[in-house]
Amino acid sequence: MDSVYDLLGACGLYCGACYHYRASLPEGQHLLEMAVDQGRSLDGYGCQGCRSGVLYCHPGCSHCAVRRCAEGRKLVHCGLCSEFPCDRIRAFQSGGRIHHRDVLVHLEELMVIGPDRWLAQQAQRWRCRCGAGFSWYEVLCRRCGAPLASYGSGPAARQDPSAPRNAGVRTLNGG
Ligand code: SF4
Ligand code: SF4
Ligand SMILES: [Zn+2]
Repeated sequence: MDSVYDLLGACGLYCGACYHYRASLPEGQHLLEMAVDQGRSLDGYGCQGCRSGVLYCHPGCSHCAVRRCAEGRKLVHCGLCSEFPCDRIRAFQSGGRIHHRDVLVHLEELMVIGPDRWLAQQAQRWRCRCGAGFSWYEVLCRRCGAPLASYGSGPAARQDPSAPRNAGVRTLNGG
């Protein structure tokens, strides 16, 4: 797989905003500290993105059936699949993690604008107005303190259509 697409999840996630990826960056020390506070092991916690060769090693993306399926079909992402949206990707989207809920929309966008523009748009989307990148579940910018347009403070809440867009709980738990 072309390394320029390391941060493009086959499922439509943008890995550049994932806490496993951002914890791997020099500026991601606070995410590692947060994981330790929550009792997580840092062994294999970091990730270089879905299409990289260095994946978060606990159950999650390293064992992801969607990624395996797309790679088996030699597809950059599921939107290019003749079976899209299949039951597997629908189950992934509705499986409970807040950051999963936009993947079908993302895959549709990818079909329209292509991976290069989409990745550039996502990089912008997950950047504070001061220029600092942030992850799905950071609510305040580490650099300037501004509120961030994230998904809230944690990914593990079950999806509730009536919940506010940024509602969440406080457990960092998988990609
Ligand atoms: S853990 Fe999954 S979503 Fe996060 S960066 Fe790695 S492949 Fe992407
Ligand atoms: S069958 Fe489903 S999971 Fe597999 S590549 Fe196609 S859309 Fe993705
Ligand atoms: Zn900022």
